[in-house]
Amino acid sequence: MKPLRLPADDREYLLAFLRDLVRIPSPSTKEGDLAARVVTEMKSIGLPKVEVDPIGNVITRIGPGEGPVLMLSAHMDSVRVSGPESWTHDPFSAEVEAGLLYGLGSCDMKGGLAAMVYALKLLKDIDADLKGDIILSCVVQEEDCEGLGTRVLLEESGIRPDWVVIGEPTDLNVSRGQRGRLEMRLVTHGRSAHGASPHLGENAINAAARLVFGLEILTEQLAKDDFLGPGTLAVTEISSRASSRNAIPDRCSLILDRRLTLGENETTALSQVQRVIAREGVEATVAVTEYRASSYTGYECRARKLYPPWVISADHPLVDAAVRAAQMQLKRRPEITRWRFSTEGVYTAGEAGIPSVGLGPGREATAHTADEHVRLADVYAAAEIYAQLALRLLGRA
Ligand SMILES: [Zn+2]
Repeated sequence: MKPLRLPADDREYLLAFLRDLVRIPSPSTKEGDLAARVVTEMKSIGLPKVEVDPIGNVITRIGPGEGPVLMLSAHMDSVRVSGPESWTHDPFSAEVEAGLLYGLGSCDMKGGLAAMVYALKLLKDIDADLKGDIILSCVVQEEDCEGLGTRVLLEESGIRPDWVVIGEPTDLNVSRGQRGRLEMRLVTHGRSAHGASPHLGENAINAAARLVFGLEILTEQLAKDDFLGPGTLAVTEISSRASSRNAIPDRCSLILDRRLTLGENETTALSQVQRVIAREGVEATVAVTEYRASSYTGYECRARKLYPPWVISADHPLVDAAVRAAQMQLKRRPEITRWRFSTEGVYTAGEAGIPSVGLGPGREATAHTADEHVRLADVYAAAEIYAQLALRLLGRA
């Protein structure tokens, strides 16, 4: 095994491709133009078997068509620009300054996506002798409903990867897990009355307020995991219903963002909230919310907003292979870490039980922020690491 190098020409092509990706807006469910650009690039660099599946994921594969399967996982969507006044670089100009490429989605995760495309080109150009296939999946709607695109791809195509490498930002370290997530709607029910006679009604907002304080106490009692950290709970939205501003509200609705650490699940999370409801003696219901959307191809998506936590052990062969591949390319030992945010791993590792790791250019703290950027040297290095890792897992020795 020796280090792989992306040729100078390919670095230039990769950069031009990445700048195009950043210039093409691709909010969730509106990834069509970006997907078309990805397809064009894959075809122009000679990747065979480029396909778009029913939900709009772009997939390509190289290899003999048999044997074990490594999936490289990227997502094509980005969040929307928030606080445009705090950007000093245009979010869609893809400016390069001092080796950094700026723009919305540059770090999360168009840099990782572009690196994965060029990892396949590198493997193709060196005529890598592979005993299994490498599939690159560029999925839709990760920012709004992580795991959905990969679920549709795997369930409808019958592809069953043996390993998954997720290219979300890790600063080229190796991530081996993340907390999960659950979104709940908590509704209190009251009784309407004229605002001049509140004693004749039951104010649903007052009931909700008691629950908010009860939930704050609950937050301090949630489970902790040494590696992933504690579960958390936050009230992130509140709305109420009344026939007018001088009537007593009969309904108040809260959205709860619940981060699940290892050992926590839907049952734990719901029953804890139900106990708060019972303790406060309030009439209320709690349920997991649902994601509903139509993809850019018109595919109707419905999914419960439930994303399980996952961890892969530090001595798993996939973690070891990722660490060694990065070490060989970078001449330093990467850290083994975990993400704070959520990724497609909630499906691949959390639900489907497929060994998964994360490794990508860019820093997690830069994602979803003003002046989002990625270091170009790290994008090139990521392409080389992905190719090196593929050789370690699938190369005929
Ligand atoms: Zn991402």
